[in-house]
Order: sequence, then C-alpha cells, then structure tokens
Amino acid sequence: MSVRVNREHQSETLSAGLYIVATPIGNLADITMRAVDVLARCAGIACEDTRVTGKLLRHLGISKPLWRYNDHSEPRDRAKLVQRMQTEAVVLVSDAGTPLISDPGYRLVRDAREAGITVTSLPGACALITGLTLSGLPNDRFMFAGFLPTKDKARRDMLADVAAVTATLIFYETGPRLVKSLVAIEETMPGREVSVARELTKLFEECRTGTPAALTAHYTAHPPKGEIVLLVAPPLEASFNADDADALLVDALKTMKASQAVAQVARMTGLDRKALYARAMELRRH
Ligand code: SAM
Repeated sequence: MSVRVNREHQSETLSAGLYIVATPIGNLADITMRAVDVLARCAGIACEDTRVTGKLLRHLGISKPLWRYNDHSEPRDRAKLVQRMQTEAVVLVSDAGTPLISDPGYRLVRDAREAGITVTSLPGACALITGLTLSGLPNDRFMFAGFLPTKDKARRDMLADVAAVTATLIFYETGPRLVKSLVAIEETMPGREVSVARELTKLFEECRTGTPAALTAHYTAHPPKGEIVLLVAPPLEASFNADDADALLVDALKTMKASQAVAQVARMTGLDRKALYARAMELRRH
C-alpha cells in the first residue's frame, strides 16, 4: 500500500504557491488539521477582513501577516499577491467557509493560474453543503444559485428562471429578507417543499421544512435572525404521471386562462410547457 503525502508536509517550509483554505462557518472547531498546519506554516494570509481572520488566528494560537483582499481590490494589489506566490506560500481565506463560494477569490485564482503558480485548495466547511445534507431534500442533483437579488422583480425573475430546473435549488439568504423570498417562491413555485437551514453549526442551529406558505407564516410570526441557507425541492416531475398532471390542469383551468394554468402546472411539476398546453387544449375540448 502506498500513502500519498501532500506536498506541503514534506518540509518545514511550505512550497510557494496559493493555498485556498476553508475556515469554520460558526463552530470554531470545524477546521481541518491540514488547514491549521498550512495556516501555521504559510508566509501570510490574504483575507476579506483582517479583524475576522485575526480572531480565528488568535483562537488557533497563530500569528501571521494579514493582507486585506477582496474582488474589488486594485489589480496592482492582486498582482503583488501573485508576485509573492512565486516565492512564498500565500493562503487565501474568506470571513467564513470556503473561499470563492459567494466570496472573493476567483480573480486571484485565475491570475495565479495564468502566472503558472501552483494552486491548492483545502476543503472544509461550506454552508450550502451543510444545509443540503441537513435538509432531507433530494441531493442527487442540486443547483447552487448564490444570493437571491434584493429587488422584488429581479428576485421573482430569477426564481422563475430556475423554477423548472430538475434539481434541489440552494440559495444564500439573510434573516431580514427571508420572508420576501419565501413569498416569491410561493408565487413562482407553488407547493414545492422548502427548507430553511439557519445558524448552521452554531448554538441555535435549526432546519425547518415545509411549504413556502407555512414557512412564511412561521417566519412572519418569528422574524429570523442570523445566516440562512434556503433550499427548494426539485419539481415533482419524476413522480408525476399523466393523471396527476391532468388533475392539476383541470383544477387550474377552472379559475385561470389556459396559458396561466399551463405556466402554473409547469412550475409545479417541471413538465414541458408545450406538452402541457397541448394537453390543456385537449382537456378543454372534452
Ligand atoms: N463562503 C461561505 C460558504 O462557504 O458557505 C459563504 C459566504 S456568503 C458571503 C455568506 C452566506 O452564507 C450567508 O449570508 C448565509 O446565507 C450563508 N451562511 C454562512 N454561514 C452560515 C451558517 N452558519 N448558517 C447558515 N448559513 C450560513
């Protein structure tokens, strides 16, 4: 049996390059031994907020130069970091979780790769994966769509865009905007199962699952605090047979125009709109 030893463990000093290091999303114990080792032996750390990363380093008993970096940093600051990586081990962290996941870093990684720098990524905590595993929603296919837009119309448009995707949808959300998003989900994907995963890995972690309407009622009565991963179950296409779709169409046609009824049933089931429209016309004729 052979054991592959990671490059960074072969000597006291880390090889030069860029090390992308995941940090905890709440519980400070959620950091890997490899991450601690690389943080302890690197030349310095590029981070979003030196106060946040400074706190983590103090907790770990590590002292390192911290360089403020985000995607709005000047190109010359990025160039300086890439220059350093030619001869030193530079770590990239974000405030929490996996860098680059709704966090800064992709420009730095792209520039580093273009400059021929060795880039290594150390896996660890990530809120979307933690939320997905906790939710009980299907996880064989999922789509992470980042933060929902803050404006009502843009939020609804984005949700309508992804409504027919046959995968669990995952969004990042904040407490003050949760109810608006749940209402928009109810409008665009009525009846779909939704999970709200809140304060993951922290003292008041909770994961609540239900219809958008039920969750809207709950969080209107109990305004949520803290950080949230919002998940929407896939459309029911796989388990929907023609009779189920017919029943939904018949029901919708009682109160809506054919085009509206078809749009609603397509959102609920993920079934093809054209086929549903043809079926709606047939049902009308009979
Ligand atoms: N890079 C991070 C990651 O790997 O998950 C995400 C950073 S993004 C700027 C911050 C968002 O992630 C929060 O608004 C929230 O939606 C989600 N998030 C981060 N920590 C969380 C936690 N402990 N519980 C629930 N959601 C969390």
